[in-house]
Amino acid sequence: MQNDVDFETLKTEAEKEIASATNMDSLLPIKGKWIGKDGIIAGLMGQIRTVANDQKKQYGASVNALKTHITEKIQEKISQIEDSRSAVEWVDLSLPGIRPKAGSLHPITRVIRQVSSIFEKMGFSVESGPEIETEFYNFEALNVPAHHPARDTQDTFFVTQDRVLRTQTSGIQIRTMQAASLPLRMIAPGKVFRVDHDATHSPVFHQIEGLMVDKDVHFGHLKYILRLMMRELFGQEREVRFRPSFFPFTEPSAEMDVSCFQCGGKGCKLCKHTGWIEVLGCGMVDPNVFLAVNIDPDVYSGWAFGIGVERIAMMQYGISDIRAFYENDVRFLSQFSFVI
Ligand SMILES: [Zn+2]
Repeated sequence: MQNDVDFETLKTEAEKEIASATNMDSLLPIKGKWIGKDGIIAGLMGQIRTVANDQKKQYGASVNALKTHITEKIQEKISQIEDSRSAVEWVDLSLPGIRPKAGSLHPITRVIRQVSSIFEKMGFSVESGPEIETEFYNFEALNVPAHHPARDTQDTFFVTQDRVLRTQTSGIQIRTMQAASLPLRMIAPGKVFRVDHDATHSPVFHQIEGLMVDKDVHFGHLKYILRLMMRELFGQEREVRFRPSFFPFTEPSAEMDVSCFQCGGKGCKLCKHTGWIEVLGCGMVDPNVFLAVNIDPDVYSGWAFGIGVERIAMMQYGISDIRAFYENDVRFLSQFSFVI
């Protein structure tokens, strides 16, 4: 036999057949036909014996080139078929789904919402104000005069000479008294800033202040509402007690303790064996504060309180280090996803 094999025609024919395959089932017989043990290529190789000696080299090279070409084409086709299969067949609808991780509210947010909801039920509005305050709203209007130690730069972050990062949310009360009509019931949750940093103090923390102004408002109203708040937060059997104290913006002023929710008042580590836990400061609005916002203290009276949100959250959830609230460690935060 002479070297009269038409390699070009064979190549075109093989390409056409391979291209027509749509899956492995139709491709495998084509593969066998061309490059299998008894396939066309093997047949062509077998015929080399019949080729004239001076053409053997050329003939062998042509068969090998054809074999390489067909093998490549088949490999390309296999990749194509596998690609299309991974898009369609790999979706296994019977597998259990992957539950996305649900977020949860930060314990600080929880306490703010809880306290807000207690007061909203009693007709209090929830107000907010700027975190950078003028000295007037942060100190002066709250009866803290220019040389009062509370203005000490060791406690206060000054932004400019007369602007500070608010050290309390009381400025919101002043703004609300200026803008709103009386009578007034409000609470103001928000961030406050002080130069302080250890396991129980953070340079930024959260406070909720409350204010009620009306004619004939007295200390009895304050006691009743604060006790109600403590019972909502720490259980219906909680009792409260008031100790005389001093704040520039209230007169008289008091600090309030709540009976220990862990030992029920018998004494434990949490309450330092006193049976009571200090929770907030409060008092009747000082007449000077009313005068600063043009409210007649002879006609109106009011009470106010301020409570630390972190302190409540630490007690509610048994957290001992305040810094845990701000580190955004998911292992810490995910513990609160069970609470609704
Ligand atoms: Zn106790």
